Amino acid sequence: MAATEVYDIVCVGFGSAALSLAIGLYEQQPKLKVLFLEKEKRFSWQGSRLPFERSKMQSNFMQDLVTPRNPLSKFTLVNYLWSTDMLVMYTNLSAINPPRQLFSNYLNWCAEKMETTGWVKYDQDVQSIAQLSGHASARRQFQVTSRKCDGQETKIRAKTIILSQTSSPDMPKWVPYHNVGQRIFHTSEFTQHTSDLNQWNGSSLNIAVVGGNDEALDIFQYCQRLDGAKITLLHEGPFLRLHDSNPFLTSLAAHEFSESTTQASIHPSVQHEQLHSLYEKRYTELVRKHKQKPGNSEIFPCTSVIGTSKLFDQIVLKCWNTGTDSGFCSDAFDYIFVSSRYADVKQSHLMAQLKNIIGRSEKVVNSAEDEPLAPRIEGANGAWILRDEYATGNSFENLALRTEQLLRTLTQYSSSESPEGYTGRRVIPETARL
Ligand SMILES: Cc1cc2nc3c(=O)[nH]c(=O)nc-3n(C[C@H](O)[C@H](O)[C@H](O)COP(=O)(O)OP(=O)(O)OC[C@H]3O[C@@H](n4cnc5c(N)ncnc54)[C@H](O)[C@@H]3O)c2cc1C
Repeated sequence: MAATEVYDIVCVGFGSAALSLAIGLYEQQPKLKVLFLEKEKRFSWQGSRLPFERSKMQSNFMQDLVTPRNPLSKFTLVNYLWSTDMLVMYTNLSAINPPRQLFSNYLNWCAEKMETTGWVKYDQDVQSIAQLSGHASARRQFQVTSRKCDGQETKIRAKTIILSQTSSPDMPKWVPYHNVGQRIFHTSEFTQHTSDLNQWNGSSLNIAVVGGNDEALDIFQYCQRLDGAKITLLHEGPFLRLHDSNPFLTSLAAHEFSESTTQASIHPSVQHEQLHSLYEKRYTELVRKHKQKPGNSEIFPCTSVIGTSKLFDQIVLKCWNTGTDSGFCSDAFDYIFVSSRYADVKQSHLMAQLKNIIGRSEKVVNSAEDEPLAPRIEGANGAWILRDEYATGNSFENLALRTEQLLRTLTQYSSSESPEGYTGRRVIPETARL
């Protein structure tokens, strides 16, 4: 890459939000000079870092990278299924939500297609973004410095910069800093430990999972099958709550009903199939217990973890039972997986650098109709930050529409900023909407 090469758009990060944006930019005319810089060596969706087991997506098959924005796109999940000869088989599935493994394969398929455009560079950890000072009438430019893992540094220039680092696991306060990565891990790190768990050669393997959502239950069910392991699930609710936040049903339902479902949806919840298989397993265990074969799992509802203590090289959890209003100490665990939330990359120095650039502006380009973007995207002066709200939670429910808004905002910015800038993009012709 030459030092003077100038891109229309450089995006930091190539996760699923950036992938949806890449497809949007690829499908619009005229083609821009675009680059996505990703620090990892390949595309990897967050949701593929858990055991797939029986689990399905929380979002449905139309909530993919593109369909709500452009159902005629080549990058729909349906077209992926058709192109890989799986569409007919898929139509025989009774569920509307695709299996997570399948969705992960679909995302990889889209990422591979985007890689062929030459727009994606992996092993590029962006170190800094600086605004270049120039002549007042000159188009504003940024210098982006990235580093490969062998230390080699690259500098490129961009007219528009997008930060799509979004979220990272946020450990709760009760986890002592020095224990993170020792005995206590976030659920997103689970697959890094499966071979250690399977080859455990200590006397007995005692595992805790903290949380009452899909991620926690996936891991709980995976660990139940480990030979000689004892597994404990601790969660705050009185019971494992089923997903009940389908926005389509909510919008059809009466106001009172939608209020109550919105309330419910802020609590961690699990899918029907997961709960069904959990109860099936518990039932089998109860029958076995009756025949003197004890089960290997326990569930503690109404349990808030409030601290930890060390017992030799194991960790004991200090807990509070919200049902009986009393404290207790758990068993000593070899591994603890915590299913806490994902939050903004708060410590990101890149975000601080961009906020500085954005902050100097008196003009924010978002128009009134783009209001729903706030606070998910923040930007001005050619610098845009996709906030954690942009893609966390059930992100695929809204991702394609947010991409639509982002594309519109970028176009609006470029045409307002530069008379010689790109002339706008082509949208789906009305005739295509039958
Ligand atoms: C286990 C799990 C299951 C999920 N299931 C569902 C579901 O069923 N339905 C649903 O709708 N949503 C689901 N989600 C939510 C959704 O998939 C994710 O939140 C979403 O994929 C996040 O995408 P992103 O692109 O914003 O972030 P990321 O995927 O984190 O992408 C950010 C990228 O930026 C890169 N990066 C960071 N810093 C730098 C830097 N300095 N230089 C270069 N690159 C950098 C990172 O390596 C990363 O690849 C799930 C999430 C998880 C974790």
